[in-house]
Amino acid sequence: MARALLWILTGATASPDPRLLSMEEMEVDLGSRLVESELTYGQMRGSFGTPPWLGETGGNITLGRTGRKLGAAKGARLWPGAIVPYQFAETIDFKEWQTMQSVFSNISSVTNIQFVPRKAVDTDYLLITEDMETYGCGCCSIGLGYLKGSGAHVLVLGPVSEGGCGVNHIGGTHELLHILGLAHTQNRPDRCNYIDVRTDLLTGWGEWRVGQITGAADWFQLRVPYDCSSYVHYYQLQGAFWKKGVEKQVDDYMGKQGCESGQRGKFVNSCLVEGGHTQGNRVVKEGYELCVDRWSKKHKSCVDAVIRRFPTFKPIDPNGKCKANGINKEKRESWEISQYDTWALNAAYGGPLPPCQRPGKVGDGRCDRGNNNLGCGYDGGDCCLPGAKDRDCIDPCGVRLKFYGGSNSEL
Ligand SMILES: [Zn+2]
Repeated sequence: MARALLWILTGATASPDPRLLSMEEMEVDLGSRLVESELTYGQMRGSFGTPPWLGETGGNITLGRTGRKLGAAKGARLWPGAIVPYQFAETIDFKEWQTMQSVFSNISSVTNIQFVPRKAVDTDYLLITEDMETYGCGCCSIGLGYLKGSGAHVLVLGPVSEGGCGVNHIGGTHELLHILGLAHTQNRPDRCNYIDVRTDLLTGWGEWRVGQITGAADWFQLRVPYDCSSYVHYYQLQGAFWKKGVEKQVDDYMGKQGCESGQRGKFVNSCLVEGGHTQGNRVVKEGYELCVDRWSKKHKSCVDAVIRRFPTFKPIDPNGKCKANGINKEKRESWEISQYDTWALNAAYGGPLPPCQRPGKVGDGRCDRGNNNLGCGYDGGDCCLPGAKDRDCIDPCGVRLKFYGGSNSEL
């Protein structure tokens, strides 16, 4: 380090050390970079903007472009042939293009869904854009699933500097699952079996008609297990609209913890100065990365603390899957979609589902774990019989029988 510095000071004609950043470069980078916990924070406080169909009055039934009505957008619609022609808006740069290509391939690698560049004949297609002005939201998909004749199916990932979430794999994957037809998991009709929504704290989830249960590809109809770790299950706090008094408590608490996003610049700057990571008016890049990393940890632990204090729901979790898998992808790499999300896409699009490992044992009255999956009809119901282990009952239809003394005969 000392040698490199000396070299910079003495070698006037030498090329710049890549580890040194100007203050200006730092500002730009800081302004366009979000850590994962900040994405969560943005989503939970609704600062990425609401979908254009939300409307203050709730009476606005037409979207911000022609030909797409709310009523029609709600229905279950899947992309024909499991093929999604895509197009990027011109403002999407190469790095952002690469990010979305990896989101595509993360989904394609576990399903039969293909993303192909749009051709002239593809009048219905996926459009990825940063245009918040036209579409009225900063991190959203316009509508749910495929709608024939509607032209561009828009996925908006607005610039961070304008309050969007940026073209990143977290927002990108979540919104893309909506485009493919998956509605939010916490809207499932059977959610009360798994999560206890804190209606005493909330006025709503800040979501379009949260009470109206699953419109598009229906998890329950597809017989996919309830999955707290789903990419489209809200975090606790995400999109929360608290009751007035609670809202103030949350703001005060976050302020006290020093983790409002507005405090990031201040935090990083003092970390740089106190850590001796500056040289004159330049920043040593390693120190900068370290300070941004430190902010990311601080921010995450603060968000976690808020979640513990003001959760929008508590897991009831009869089979322990919420605790075992975490809420919203906690136990996976951030780019991975969950096993049950994969089942849902494959059940909807006719992709591959796991087979029975012991076909002869289906429906024999004993739970065989190798058969306990959607492709094998959950071992013919064996894993939700009263004598089966609680954790084995993942079949959404069987949960009623196993935990709530119901019967499956009306199915
Ligand atoms: Zn969503």
